[in-house]
Amino acid sequence: MSVYESLGVPAIINAAGPVTRLGGSAMSETVLGAMQDAASEWVAIEQLHAAASKMIGQVTGAEAGLVTCGASASLMLGAAAIMARYDISRMERLPDTSGLANEFVIARDQRSGYDHAIRAAGGQLVEVGFNEIGSGAGVRRTEPWEYEAAFNGRTAGVVYVYSPTSQPSLEEVVEVAHRDKLPVLVDAAGQLPPRANLMLPGMTKADLVAFSGGKAIGGPQSTGLLCGDKHLIASAALQSLDMDDHWELWDPPIEFIDRSKLKGMPRHGIGRALKVSKEEIVALVTALAMFASEDPTDQNAAHLENLQLISQTVEDPTVRCQIISGDSGESVPVLEVALATSDAVEVCRSLRKGNPPIYVGQAKLSDNRLIINPACLDQNMSETLAQRLKMEIDRNLL
Ligand SMILES: *Cc1c(COP(=O)(O)O)cnc(C)c1O
Repeated sequence: MSVYESLGVPAIINAAGPVTRLGGSAMSETVLGAMQDAASEWVAIEQLHAAASKMIGQVTGAEAGLVTCGASASLMLGAAAIMARYDISRMERLPDTSGLANEFVIARDQRSGYDHAIRAAGGQLVEVGFNEIGSGAGVRRTEPWEYEAAFNGRTAGVVYVYSPTSQPSLEEVVEVAHRDKLPVLVDAAGQLPPRANLMLPGMTKADLVAFSGGKAIGGPQSTGLLCGDKHLIASAALQSLDMDDHWELWDPPIEFIDRSKLKGMPRHGIGRALKVSKEEIVALVTALAMFASEDPTDQNAAHLENLQLISQTVEDPTVRCQIISGDSGESVPVLEVALATSDAVEVCRSLRKGNPPIYVGQAKLSDNRLIINPACLDQNMSETLAQRLKMEIDRNLL
């Protein structure tokens, strides 16, 4: 019996990809092995964090890196670091930012539910630009001058959500922000693969970049990365570590946290609520090393075969299937299933209610399309999915 069944929870077929609400990605045996080994010994956590920082730096080109409990946590800690720096009284106060520079400038069309993380740290989001494309009212996106015009004495920094279509480019935004000595905090949580994006901190001079550890990297679902400027990373670490020690005894690795920058020892900070365990740190750096060094071509070829199998089973004149391969060559291909005579929402609902429950991608339901993401499917699951999908499409006619 599966561990989930013993709890009375049905295991599902996840054709939506490594999303949080369905449990994220699968960890490889190597990662699980490292995690298990890490769980049976003890270390001083800040020394482990320092070693992880060095390794993250090597892979990303950043000066330093911090393992966090998710990209969302990375954004919150990044915002806290930008506002508090090495000032321990500010660390003590957050999320109370009264009288502090706490404004983060963000393009209106980059806002999402994840900006809760910035606000949770005490940041206030200041929108610039319009969403003219989204509203069908114009042709232009946010422009660099609009960021610049929003900067004032209360500005703490810029939040930028990275994607291949983000505008203006990250380089342009970094340039205007740095002209005013303001840091840029980048949300690149789901922008891996391509592996080349790991180098965003090094390539773009962005000050801090957040990645998810539990999506494509294949680390524990509850992990993330914050990479970038070593002083900001030190501040983020200081605000999230267990600080219950004596100043006379406290001896963090100097390349990770330079004690001489501090007036004293901070107490637990705002990030104490976002702790990561030794096992999670070890598992994530193990997964990161594998992700960075392994060519995904073979895996994508297997994904493609599974998608072809599904497509061959369900395709007919009223069910159009199209495989979309990512432009980077490294991206996981997905299958779009366009339904002409069946109701995509009802098909989704029936798939979820069946046995085993099946969850498919739902980003294009408004076009009456389903998306099959093969990242969490093996061949058996793909066969089951293909049969069930065909059945539910035939049963849920418009
Ligand atoms: C997934 C995601 C996040 C959150 O990442 P977690 O690692 O789950 O905390 C934040 N921003 C974007 C754009 C994402 O896709």
